[in-house]
Amino acid sequence: MDYYGTRVTKLIEQLSGLPGVGPKTAQRLAFHIINMPEDNVLSLADALVDARKNVRYCRECCTLTDQDICPICANPARDHTTVMVVETTRDLAAYEKTGKFDGVYHVLHGAISPMMGIGPADIRLKELIKRLEGDVQEVIIATNNSLEGETTAMYISKLIKPSGIKVTRIASGVPVGGDLEYIDEVTLLRALEGRTEL
Ligand code: ZN
Repeated sequence: MDYYGTRVTKLIEQLSGLPGVGPKTAQRLAFHIINMPEDNVLSLADALVDARKNVRYCRECCTLTDQDICPICANPARDHTTVMVVETTRDLAAYEKTGKFDGVYHVLHGAISPMMGIGPADIRLKELIKRLEGDVQEVIIATNNSLEGETTAMYISKLIKPSGIKVTRIASGVPVGGDLEYIDEVTLLRALEGRTEL
């Protein structure tokens, strides 16, 4: 039975398709949106469409950006010979928030997971290897401390080692299975400073 009418139900259905949004939250958001001033709803809708249309992957590091090259890669003050490999743009943001890393990043957009059928070709690894043809002295692997993160770290390390480039792994002061973005800045910095060579 449709208690709300087709339009409300359609909105609830759309919202509940988002990650982390269950049916109850979707309902709450839908009613909130319906009660918002129309101008605010239009700006929200605009922001959604605009982001989807104009956000792409950085040509260098594959992070999400609305430019051809992201502001970090475009910054000449950053150390372009040190590349930190992370799983997601959110992880990049977590490290950027510490303000203590002056190298550049590479965003994989995932991790290798044989169980989920995600192989090396399904993440942005080719792009990383291509970058290493340039002047790179250290690759810091900062994938999550999960099974997938460790598998990915090992895979990348084996791939890069023969090139002679230094490969390090952030210290495992981070809780097992803990997503990088939820870890506080002090722990992140400690993990970075305590990195060990692979
Ligand atoms: Zn970039």
